Amino acid sequence: ETPIESKPSWLRTKAVVSETYQDVRGLVREKNLHTVCAEANCPNIYECWNDREATFLVGGEICTRRCDFCDIATGRPTEYDVDEPRRVAVSIKEMELRYATVTGVARDDRPDGGAWLYAETCRQIHELSPGTGVELLIPDFKGDPGALAEVYSSRPEVLGHNVETVPRIHKRIRPAFSYERSLDVIRSASEAGLVTKSNLILGMGETREEIEEAMATLVEARCDILTITQYLRPSKLHHPIDRWVKPQEFIELSSLAEEMGFAAVMSGPMVRSSYRAGMLWGRAVVK
Ligand code: SF4
Ligand code: SF4
Repeated sequence: ETPIESKPSWLRTKAVVSETYQDVRGLVREKNLHTVCAEANCPNIYECWNDREATFLVGGEICTRRCDFCDIATGRPTEYDVDEPRRVAVSIKEMELRYATVTGVARDDRPDGGAWLYAETCRQIHELSPGTGVELLIPDFKGDPGALAEVYSSRPEVLGHNVETVPRIHKRIRPAFSYERSLDVIRSASEAGLVTKSNLILGMGETREEIEEAMATLVEARCDILTITQYLRPSKLHHPIDRWVKPQEFIELSSLAEEMGFAAVMSGPMVRSSYRAGMLWGRAVVK
């Protein structure tokens, strides 16, 4: 292990096991429910589940794209499960969630890129749990206006699409995406009247100036909520870690982002794009 791979001391969380967390955990075990939180061993699980917030994956476990920071396997997906939206909605009801993030793989093998799956999951959650907020974190559907319109018409409380990194290294990190097209997705969601959100992962080789420029392009594309996170390398086959961003820099970037006009910002070494997502949405809508 090279020194850069050793995690700094600030990348640790304290596990505070609350009663609500135990309640949610019990339901997940008893009913054999699948969440990204538990299956990816997310360190924020005690906090998010205590707030009755969790994240779900749709579209299967194989992605048609390959991003250099992502742990999901790339290949040709086999299954396309039209019952998945219902199961996710039932899980959310059983967990009595206040807010759910739904994300998934890119399904470029499907004519609609999997747009129906996202839209249908949102519709079914709203139907079964009218008081639960839904955040859809979507791929770009190659910019297909029909697919995007289908997703927007399901009226998620938040529409997330992550640019993840700055324009200069975007092609290398996310070869099947384009920075400009991602900005267009955010802009079109905002024009459709949705609250929008994006994420920047730091520590992949970007400079401070480039981060600030990327933030400016997101504000310009009418992105309402921003999360800023630290890159963690899933394996030696993935993009190397360039640096560990210090907690102080995350705090500075958070203040700067608020000054630049984002309605709500979450920035920190342990932040994930779905971390405390319901709370952030609440902050964004009161503004
Ligand atoms: Fe789940 Fe996201 Fe929270 Fe992690 S940060 S526990 S994946 S909702
Ligand atoms: Fe991972 Fe999403 Fe990229 Fe697929 S499109 S490799 S799921 S980040």
